[in-house]
Amino acid sequence: MASSLFVGLHDPHSYAKPEEARVTHLDLNLRLDFEKKVIQGRATLLFETSSRADYLTLDTRQLFIHSVRSGDDALPLPFSLSSPDDVLGQALQIRLRPGIQKVVIEYETAPDAPALQWLSAEQTAGGREPFLYTQSQAILCRSWIPLQDSPGIRFTYTARVATKPGHLALMSAQNPQKLKSDGVYEFRMDHPVPAYLMALASGRLDFGVLDHNVGVYAEPEILPRALKDFEDTPRMLRAAEKLYGPYPWGRYDILVMPPSFPFGGMENPCLTFATPTILTGDKSLTSLVAHELAHSWSGNLATNATWNDFWLNEGFTVYLERRIMEELYGSSYRDMLEVLGYEDLIQTIEALKEEGREEDTRLRLHLDNRDPDEGMNDIAYEKGYLFLRSVERLIGTQAMDKMLQEWFRRHAFKSVTTASWMEFLKEQLSLEQWVAVQPDKWILEPFLPLHAAPQSRAFQEVEEAVFQCLNDIDKFRPVWEKWNSHQRQHFLRKLSEQKPTPKDLAALDASLELNESTNSEELFIWFMMALKAGYMDILPRLDAFLSSVGRRKFVLPLVRQLACMPALRDWARKRFLERWKLRYHYVTASSCESAFSKD
Ligand SMILES: [Zn+2]
Repeated sequence: MASSLFVGLHDPHSYAKPEEARVTHLDLNLRLDFEKKVIQGRATLLFETSSRADYLTLDTRQLFIHSVRSGDDALPLPFSLSSPDDVLGQALQIRLRPGIQKVVIEYETAPDAPALQWLSAEQTAGGREPFLYTQSQAILCRSWIPLQDSPGIRFTYTARVATKPGHLALMSAQNPQKLKSDGVYEFRMDHPVPAYLMALASGRLDFGVLDHNVGVYAEPEILPRALKDFEDTPRMLRAAEKLYGPYPWGRYDILVMPPSFPFGGMENPCLTFATPTILTGDKSLTSLVAHELAHSWSGNLATNATWNDFWLNEGFTVYLERRIMEELYGSSYRDMLEVLGYEDLIQTIEALKEEGREEDTRLRLHLDNRDPDEGMNDIAYEKGYLFLRSVERLIGTQAMDKMLQEWFRRHAFKSVTTASWMEFLKEQLSLEQWVAVQPDKWILEPFLPLHAAPQSRAFQEVEEAVFQCLNDIDKFRPVWEKWNSHQRQHFLRKLSEQKPTPKDLAALDASLELNESTNSEELFIWFMMALKAGYMDILPRLDAFLSSVGRRKFVLPLVRQLACMPALRDWARKRFLERWKLRYHYVTASSCESAFSKD
């Protein structure tokens, strides 16, 4: 099993052949057409070739290629597209002439390009202007730019984007802060980045300052709230730099996305895309910002070479996120996050076991011939975290901080593999420590090795309350009100395990107004518990939630739950097709479709 770690760096999710010709710089010229929902593009690619390179091979998906020319003499170059694959798209093979190191591709995206979401004005907070955003991870960048879409291939880029006048355009690069009347913006990213970090957004956006190099972009209606909830971001940045070395990307800004954004956040360099579902007014869900910020080191700086090594991006980032939160708010805060994450992990392992996917509970994945999305679950995040945490327990927190700082220093702007991490760890640990940690078990074997389950003192009183709350709900209400959001989430999960009746939940709802909660995490657990208990008074609120929020973490489990309830399945399918789906990004919509297609 160990030997499979050391095979060459073939990326099973890209057609690119970087050993023949490897892209080093991209220049983009894009015109956004909101009427037709397409981007007209010109991509100029600079690349290095080996002596035997006859072709430059790129990834594309649903792109219309108008022409390919040599960048030197502007003469046409012969090209061909392979037949389309549902997951990988099409290979674009460009026949090279000797000496060519630059090609110019004129192309257009498809109106249903999976990476692009074109929102109508009504689907935004302000309701006045349409909005466009991209989501390139894992392998969707190829549906808006023809390039080598593999996390192991990095390039610098420049771009010129023409959008609607009145819009601000933003990319994963140095960004404008002021509106330009002609709607034409220029960008540059001087550090080499992989394709999945290519990002673009355009809409009616304002900018607000948090610190000299930290700020927030959002629709004007949202910006004041966002600035308040994100006000600790500069402190997070300073804590991260203290732990893991200088922040290498210049500015760190956050763009608050429309509610349809499929993820919690996306770590686009210089500009995190963040879901508005973390805006609560009390900063209780901002560990997500620490997470996306942490990706500036784990992921964006030292990048998983292929999606089989995804845990190197996410497990490390969850670890960094919790260390940052610990620096800001103390160890009890970290303990709470840890327990909540651990509960998610146990659930994910159970679910994968039920689906007969034990193999996918290993940290190092085998996603060949599958959509890499299938590996994007809590195994990478939380099992990865738990493994690093077990190393920390053994060597001490400070030694761990130092070790990770060294890891990032050595692998800055490079790809990393599970094998390279294993080698590094072996070098850093004594033989005794290595044996005690059992890295092979964690990384290569399914399920969890023996480990210390996380504990939180702040959760102890919560667990006691679970058994008493229903006896005297009026007495419980003030207890609930003084709890923080993590305690509330833990309470709702633990209560759910006790299988409350619809009558219990009606009483709880009447007292705590759970159905009216504006905290998305609490609301989600409440909905799941109510559906499982058959407490149907939630349906109008649930319908409204699923009609506006497109974050897959919430939508998919709710839709799956509805799809397996005979009394609600038909209603849910109808609402999904007629309404909910219209607001979702491709990745959320396609995940939900599979829930309804199962019997
Ligand atoms: Zn992440």
